Amino acid sequence: MSLELPISHQDAFQCEECDTTINHTFTIEDLEYESSEERGMGEETQYGFTEEVTCPSCQHTNEVTGEVWEYPDGAVNLIQLT
Ligand SMILES: [Zn+2]
Repeated sequence: MSLELPISHQDAFQCEECDTTINHTFTIEDLEYESSEERGMGEETQYGFTEEVTCPSCQHTNEVTGEVWEYPDGAVNLIQLT
């Protein structure tokens, strides 16, 4: 892996307790390797991450998971919540 950490990523999700939409800037400091595949410009690698985010309305702690796609080597191609 040659991504520079941490990665800052802003995204929105719904609180699993009260359905409030939470806008959050994720600071991704830990990536867990999931899979990789050879493509035209080299290797594409998929990682997973988890961050705990407290809901501002109900204080519920949401465990949010997402994935980071690295492609080509060293570049963040896509970040999405799962
Ligand atoms: Zn909530």
